[in-house]
Amino acid sequence: MNTIVENNTDTFELQVRKLVNSQRDYFKSNATRPAEFRLRQLKKLKTLLLEHEEDMHKAIFKDFGKSKYENQLTEFFPLIDEINITIKNLKKWMQHKNVRTNLLNFPAKSYLVPEPLGVTLVIGAWNFPYNLSLTPLVGSMAAGNTTILKPSELPAETSKIMTKIINENFDPNYLRVVEGAIPETTALLKQRYDKIFFTGSPMVGKIVNKAAAEHLTNVTLELGGKNPSIFHKDAALKVGVKRMIWAKFVNSGQFCITTDYALVHKDIKDEFLKLAVQEIEKGNFSKENHNYVQIINERNFDRVINLINPDKVYYGGNYNREDRRIQPTILTDVSLNDKVMQEEIFGPILPVIEYETIDEAFEIIKRFEKPLAAYLFSDSSAIKDRFLAEIPFGSGGINDCVMQVSNPNIPFGGVGHSGMGRYHGKYSFECFSHLKGVLDKPTVIETNLKYYGYSEKRMKIMKALS
Ligand code: NAD
Repeated sequence: MNTIVENNTDTFELQVRKLVNSQRDYFKSNATRPAEFRLRQLKKLKTLLLEHEEDMHKAIFKDFGKSKYENQLTEFFPLIDEINITIKNLKKWMQHKNVRTNLLNFPAKSYLVPEPLGVTLVIGAWNFPYNLSLTPLVGSMAAGNTTILKPSELPAETSKIMTKIINENFDPNYLRVVEGAIPETTALLKQRYDKIFFTGSPMVGKIVNKAAAEHLTNVTLELGGKNPSIFHKDAALKVGVKRMIWAKFVNSGQFCITTDYALVHKDIKDEFLKLAVQEIEKGNFSKENHNYVQIINERNFDRVINLINPDKVYYGGNYNREDRRIQPTILTDVSLNDKVMQEEIFGPILPVIEYETIDEAFEIIKRFEKPLAAYLFSDSSAIKDRFLAEIPFGSGGINDCVMQVSNPNIPFGGVGHSGMGRYHGKYSFECFSHLKGVLDKPTVIETNLKYYGYSEKRMKIMKALS
């Protein structure tokens, strides 16, 4: 097992306990509460990220061949944007929020006071390792908490550089990265926190939720699922396929909100497939000059290629084991009993399922757990209305795919098995805060309805006021 502090001879568990205790003491000192403190720390984090930008690009390229362009587009810019938005709005978010006072309590003021929660634990996933670790961290810092961050161990270089940036520059009583895999995370989860924010699979989400229940700790779970994209017969197909195919194969399909499977109306299926192949071929899948990132490790590589049934390959199906790259692959004539439809794919395979009526498409989606995301490609208002009214999903899009994540005004999170809680922008601040509800009474006026001396007459007044 790792050590948290170099050359420390305490057991890992004891080191974790000491770290949590010292963060709790620091939190209780009120040092993290003032807006000035929070803003100073957020600005410092931003400066450090900008200073280490090139190293961060190199680290992720080493981990799974993600190019600088794609890293900037999907990780670095959104992260810097999140910090900028937080810095700009923090003082506004921290203000008391007035709410109406009901007649029974008149005269009084009523308001909500955002309050930091305390010591938080953020556990990240590997597929967007910077974003999924540091975006929740920004929310936790903005809300005035102390944080222990456990990035995913799979992209080792990105984990290392985040550790360096944070542990060499911030007070460990305030922020500390603890690296590690299952044993370290298990040890971390034994401690009591005031908030746990977890991104990862539903299976590990259950482990986290159970550990949190032991201490009645508030949790946010950002999980996954099988996300559908419906292409109805009236879809603007060319632009729709272009958007969906980019979103499907960016990061080689290792993207929690991308399309897992496409439901395509039978009248447009041939055209859909032709356009999909054209779009895929705009990318380059040669070993020398690839646009597609690697699969994160061999275990996931094997898992994903095992989902390809060669009899159903319409396009692609090739892979290169030494390089951990899988060609963007389309499967057709897929049945719901096929292996590819039994689990979240999380890789560059697109199963295409044909449907005749929209009811049939909706019925297929409802056979699965509620997805993290769902997409509809259609220009029909009636179909859009039905999609929004009848299909449960965490977040989604109409005539686009994955881009809702880039709008900080849209909360990001799942529902049911795809997660609980939401974050990004102001929602991150709220995710890591408690809103204290306060009734603030003046002392000069007093009403006497609630006091002893109950009577029918007072009952009538009370009824009229309620
Ligand atoms: P994972 O659940 O295997 O790992 C996530 C984290 O949990 C890692 O930090 C890992 O070290 C830790 N972990 C793993 N096994 C553990 C155990 N037994 N006990 C304690 N901790 C453990 O997930 P992953 O492979 O990193 O990511 C893939 C999954 O995450 C997919 O299901 C995907 O949809 C989901 N995901 C969701 C989002 C989102 O924002 N909702 C984003 C990315 C990925």
